[in-house]
Order: sequence, then structure tokens, then C-alpha cells
Amino acid sequence: MSDTIEKVKCLIIGSGPAGYTAAIYAARANMKPVLYQGTQPGGQLTTTNDVENYPGYPDGITGPEMMIEFQKQAERFDTDVRDGWITKVDFSGDVHKVWVNDEKEIHCDTVIISTGASAKYLGLESEQKYLNLGGGVSACAVCDGFFYRNQEVVIVGAGDSACEEAHYLSKLCTKVTMLVRRDEFRASKIMEARVKNTKNIEILFNTETDEVLGDGQVVTGVRVFNNKTNAKHEIPATGFFVAIGHTPNTEIFKDYLNLDETGYIINVPGTSKTNVNGVFVSGDAADHVYRQAVTAAGTGCMAALDAERYLAAKEG
Ligand code: NDP
Repeated sequence: MSDTIEKVKCLIIGSGPAGYTAAIYAARANMKPVLYQGTQPGGQLTTTNDVENYPGYPDGITGPEMMIEFQKQAERFDTDVRDGWITKVDFSGDVHKVWVNDEKEIHCDTVIISTGASAKYLGLESEQKYLNLGGGVSACAVCDGFFYRNQEVVIVGAGDSACEEAHYLSKLCTKVTMLVRRDEFRASKIMEARVKNTKNIEILFNTETDEVLGDGQVVTGVRVFNNKTNAKHEIPATGFFVAIGHTPNTEIFKDYLNLDETGYIINVPGTSKTNVNGVFVSGDAADHVYRQAVTAAGTGCMAALDAERYLAAKEG
């Protein structure tokens, strides 16, 4: 354990659009923010190729480049951006304590949580290969569906997200094949009905992914199997969408913050406030509905403003 405890006015945990936007606002409000990047600097956007739906980039930009721009903007106003992983917190007192890499202890007047969520994947080697190549595997139809206009795609999942994304894709793509591993949906009836009533969505029940097929660069199809009969067949597709849920990165906060049953932090509606005074949340750690870079950035701004007002009221 380190014997010197650092004191910080505003600590931001996470380095996606929410964290960097919070940093820009907090720095410009003279809160001297310190931002810890975590294990995936730049967050989920660093696994996205082209971002074409973030206003202000008329020609699009790659996710990693965009996050470098966000970081530069935060640093321009003297945000202290650091490598490091917050491993433990203690929000039981007036001063909020956090530990970096289980060693360094920091005492914070305010904490902004922007730790995001991680998309779940099937874990197949071929899926990960084309995901890492940016060659046709995606966990976000709204982000990437546009690149598959007039093409055939496959989507895995049977929850509300999968239905919503399949429906979104059906408006862009010629055909969407939906792989449902059981003989029924998990989604709400209304979402299930919507996909069932869409002509260019084909639903395959009891069907799982055997392998994502490709030419070494991009996806060309998916080999699937029926888990009742074990029969295999191949589906031609240029895109493979995975919509089997997300895991919010909130584990270390669970003893102090109110989380919903899936682990998302519950904020006071219309604000970034949590149940602990001085602790704010922004981005996907609290949002299982929108999950967009631009909405994350918006809530990052809200968190910095809420933190600033909290400090102003406290300091009188
Ligand atoms: P869910 O956990 O609800 O659904 C995940 C789906 O993925 C399930 O159908 C599950 O199958 C399937 N799945 C999981 N692992 C695998 C696997 N390895 N192979 C194949 N299929 C797999 O996640 P969602 O992201 O859909 O939804 C999360 C929450 O957000 C829910 O509460 C949902 O209602 C909500 N939501 C609401 C929306 C809205 O109201 N507009 C939109 C989107 C989400 P199985 O059913 O067999 O377990």
C-alpha cells in the first residue's frame, strides 16, 4: 500500500466518450479532473471501425481516431489522463476513496463513473478473428448496419436488443436471418411480433452458430447447426451481428450504489446523480437503452455539470 494519499477534486473513471466529455467540462470548470483510462483506453468505440453517426464528422472517422481526438481535447484543458485500473472503491464516507491497481489510494470530492459496458460475444475463434479484423462482425446494428445496405446478414440473439436490431437491419438489408438458440424468444411479445411480421427477417429456432465463415479478410457466411437434430447448413452473409446482451462494468461499485438486476447503475431520473452524494454516473454504465457515443457524451456533460454544482453547494 502506498503511504501517500492523493486528494482529487474530481476523479473520472473510464475513457470512452462519456469520460472524456465529462473531463472536458470538468476541466473547463476548473475542477482539475484526473481521469483513469482503465484496461481498454477509448472504451467500446475502439472496437468500431467507422463512426458515421457522430455529429461534426461529416466524412466519418474511425472509432480509435475519434477517441484520440476526445482525449486530446480533454488534455488541452489540462485533464490529467492516466493509465490505471480502479480496483476498489469505498463510498461509505463523506470523502470517496478509490484505489488504483490495488495500490495507490485517492480521496475524491467527486467521482464520475464512466466505465461503460462490454458487449457479450459468443467466443468462437472465427467470430473474434473477423471482429478484430473489422471484417464483418459487430455488436451494434445502429453503428454498423449502414455498411451492409442491400446485403444479407445474420444476427444472433432473441432478446429485446436482438429484435430491435434485427428490425433496424431489415430496413437496410435485403435479408436478415435471426438465430434463436431455444424454441422461443426472450423478448417482449410486441418486439417478437414485430420481427415475426417483417417479411425479410427469417427466424431459425433451435439454431446456434458453428462457425463464422470468411475469406480471411471479411465475412462471407455463417455455418449454423440445429441443436435438436445436429444438422448443419451454411447461410451466405456479409455481416454477423451479435446481440446477446451487454455486461455493465460496475462490479466494483455494487456494495455502494443502487444497481438494477442486470448490474446497470440506477441514476436519479433526468440527472447523473447516484444514490451516493458526490458520485455521478454517465454513459453505458447506466444506459442499456440508447448506448450511443453521442448519448454517452451527453451524459458525460451532465455528470460534470452535476458534480460542479454539487461542489459549489458544498463549498458554499
Ligand atoms: P437479454 O439478456 O434480454 O437477451 C439476450 C438474448 O441472447 C437471449 O435471447 C439469450 O438467449 C441470447 N443468448 C445469450 N447467450 C447466447 C449465446 N451464447 N448464443 C445464442 N444466444 C444467446 O439481453 P438484451 O440485450 O436483449 O436486453 C437487455 C435488457 O434491456 C432487457 O431487460 C431488455 O428488455 C432491455 N431492452 C429493452 C429495449 C426496449 O425496451 N426497447 C431494447 C433493448 C433492450 P436465451 O433467451 O436462450 O437465454
